[in-house]
Amino acid sequence: MDVLIFWVALLGTVAVLAYHRASLTMFTALIAALLAVASFTDTVGLVSWILFLIVALPLNVASIRQQYLTKPLLKIYRKIMPEMSTTEKEAIDAGTTWWEGDLFRGTPDWHKLHNYPKPRLSAEEQAFLDGPCEELLAIVDDWHTTHERADLSPEVYQYLKDHGFFAMIIKKQYGGLEFSAYAQSCVLQKLTSKSMVLSSVVGVPNSLGPGELLQHYGTKEQQDHYLPRLAKGLEIPCFALTSPEAGSDAGAIPDVGIVCKGQWEGQEIIGMRLTWNKRYITLAPIATVLGLAFKMQDPDGLLGDTKDLGITCALIPASTPGVKIGRRHFPLNVPFQNGPTQGEEVFVPLDYIIGGPKMAGQGWRMLMECLSIGRAITLPSNSTGGIKAAALLTGAYARIRRQFKLPIGKMEGIEEALARIGGYAYMAEASTTMSVGSIDLGEKPSVISAITKFHMTERMRQAIIDAMDIHGGKGICMGPTNYLARGYQGAPVAITVEGANILTRNMIIYGQGAIRCHPFVLAELQAAGLEDERAAVTAFDRALFGHIGFSISNFFRALWLGLSNSAFSASPYSDATAKYYKQMNRYSAALALMSDVAMGTMGGDLKRRERISARLGDMLSMLYLTSAVLKRFNDDGRPAQDLPIVQWACEDNMYKAQVALDEMLDNFPNRIVGSVLGKLLFPWGRTLRKPSDQLDHQVSRIMQTPCEARSRLATNVYLTLEPNNQIGLIEKALADILAAEPIFDKVVHAANKRLPFFRLNEVADLGLELGVITEAEAQKLRVAEQGRLHTINVDDFDPLELAADKSLFDIKPKAKSEAA
Ligand SMILES: Cc1cc2nc3c(=O)[nH]c(=O)nc-3n(C[C@H](O)[C@H](O)[C@H](O)COP(=O)(O)OP(=O)(O)OC[C@H]3O[C@@H](n4cnc5c(N)ncnc54)[C@H](O)[C@@H]3O)c2cc1C
Repeated sequence: MDVLIFWVALLGTVAVLAYHRASLTMFTALIAALLAVASFTDTVGLVSWILFLIVALPLNVASIRQQYLTKPLLKIYRKIMPEMSTTEKEAIDAGTTWWEGDLFRGTPDWHKLHNYPKPRLSAEEQAFLDGPCEELLAIVDDWHTTHERADLSPEVYQYLKDHGFFAMIIKKQYGGLEFSAYAQSCVLQKLTSKSMVLSSVVGVPNSLGPGELLQHYGTKEQQDHYLPRLAKGLEIPCFALTSPEAGSDAGAIPDVGIVCKGQWEGQEIIGMRLTWNKRYITLAPIATVLGLAFKMQDPDGLLGDTKDLGITCALIPASTPGVKIGRRHFPLNVPFQNGPTQGEEVFVPLDYIIGGPKMAGQGWRMLMECLSIGRAITLPSNSTGGIKAAALLTGAYARIRRQFKLPIGKMEGIEEALARIGGYAYMAEASTTMSVGSIDLGEKPSVISAITKFHMTERMRQAIIDAMDIHGGKGICMGPTNYLARGYQGAPVAITVEGANILTRNMIIYGQGAIRCHPFVLAELQAAGLEDERAAVTAFDRALFGHIGFSISNFFRALWLGLSNSAFSASPYSDATAKYYKQMNRYSAALALMSDVAMGTMGGDLKRRERISARLGDMLSMLYLTSAVLKRFNDDGRPAQDLPIVQWACEDNMYKAQVALDEMLDNFPNRIVGSVLGKLLFPWGRTLRKPSDQLDHQVSRIMQTPCEARSRLATNVYLTLEPNNQIGLIEKALADILAAEPIFDKVVHAANKRLPFFRLNEVADLGLELGVITEAEAQKLRVAEQGRLHTINVDDFDPLELAADKSLFDIKPKAKSEAA
């Protein structure tokens, strides 16, 4: 019996110490103390002490440990770990880790999350949103842009240049706006809510491109020349990396720059002969300066001994003889300027290299460092703006449109899709704000930017599909009053650019996340790569034994949190949100454990097991997105009205985290490990559920009813009432109809008839005739009818108006009034 008590006490001590991540010294001291007590009561004898010393001594005495354990293990490690390519190394070195690192390590500190400052706009940034953004949006006509002109109008381009829209990232000393990442995000969200073409055109020069690269790496001469010109819009930049042969595998570009002598402005100089063939380049057709990525080679050793210098970035004026630029691609009826560019043996000076000749070969590192910032801003913000606009418009439409004598938004089937748009809108705003906020705190968030890019663009695609379904034919028939179809058509563009999404999910999020966020893996890799053997063993020893302790701790944490269904784990609040913090504690520990198990059992092969990597990435992503939702709720002052949307978003995310873990265990290559861990991590089965029908109902009610929670869903959406702004018009129609409904009911009651809710003009006349409403009330019914008709009607055209090549027909299209 005493022996049983001893073993229970020993196991319990190990479990508690491991759960709390106690140090090795603490472990050794407490186990020794336990043995001492057991010896005192004659429960254990000399053999136990000998066994203890055999284990404890080598572990605690560094010299013994390093000689007999670390050295042989380092040898094995070097054999099984694959070599990393230079481009992989540079991608991993670029950027920093932030909150996602805490989630990855299995013990998130919720106070730390809530203490990150809430991003805020300066007075100047707010004035820009309220002034130039509003003025710009008033002159943009999306149908004209996407259908009639296939471009923004010259007036819009001029406005963009005059008001610094291309210069949001450029420092004030060069005449730029130098906005925070948060302000850029708010501007892009607002622009997207009216025109995707507009936000794409504005987003690109402010993202990864010449402006960003020049500010970080340009020579003083380059900065002084280009930055003021970019700020004033005198130069339009583009950046060309992608080639027909190198899309996702951008490091494999075949474009070259050969160092050679040549004539430049009447003199012989050492320069480069550039040959490139690039495609998909945004703004290329109108660019005046081409940022170009190519592989630089110095076969004649004119610069030194290195023949293959590597990827290099240069700025080439588009007017340089030999530069072919100006043709357009046609990206999915969202015709922002995008096209190919080519050049053959174009000779330029070495000074065209961004940062000058010393930066030859540094291009990939430069691009990776800047991409971690740009990728977190442009596409997530554009997608967030799109989802929020879809949420507002679809909520209003579902309330206004009636079928079977009911607003369609009251039908349960519609509620399911509507709630999804609402939940995504809240979550998108929360995640984008948190991610851009990290940039303003000085981070270069490479993992977060991949998470945010992937999930915001995917959620935008789902939200727009749901919105289209709810709108039925109204969404499909295109024309000046259609506010959804271009978003629906354009969704795959956001999915494809800056890392096509399948690649981002399967390789980038976890591939970079595992190495960057793990507290020991990068240190192990770096230690194994050290040339000084002594230093390698010491560094590897520190990382490896830290890693082993970390893994043991994760095992006990995941086990206990699964067994207890995380009921006793920490939450900073004890209200309705407490359970989500607890669920995240559990899934964070499970992620940390599964990461180590996956890396331990698959080693370098994990890189090729993309679907395992994708699901680990999904778990990390869901934890990040749920944290963002809870942080937003907290930053907004925990308004009770928002709670159903917060709960919806948390439950949807955490259910997806459970699916990711479950599917990973089901498909784990080592079946024994998969099924044993399945039992340990899910001792009570899959306990998390999707958001309930009741929650769907509550969220869709909020989306259809003007209230504070609905307004908070729509921050930075362009709501101004002007003839060209469908959101403004439909928001007004919603308000007018809600105001008309009690008046309508009064007439129905007095007439003692079950009238349909249309032809409200006639209802107004009837009400006046019956003497139950005033003229002012009758007018409200007439106004509501106008808004109702505008909301449900679709555009129609003379058949010839739709033909792109009118010369095929010898009659002119009739004007609408003529046809009528
Ligand atoms: C409209 C538009 C604008 C763009 N603007 C620019 C620009 O301004 N400058 C610029 O340089 N580039 C630009 N790009 C390129 C863009 O950023 C993408 O990187 C590029 O489109 C991806 O290459 P691809 O389309 O050839 O797809 P491919 O590389 O052929 O990929 C096809 C599919 O395979 C998947 N895939 C590839 N590798 C893997 C893998 N290892 N594991 C799993 N899946 C994988 C991808 O996710 C994708 O789904 C633009 C692209 C478009 C469409």
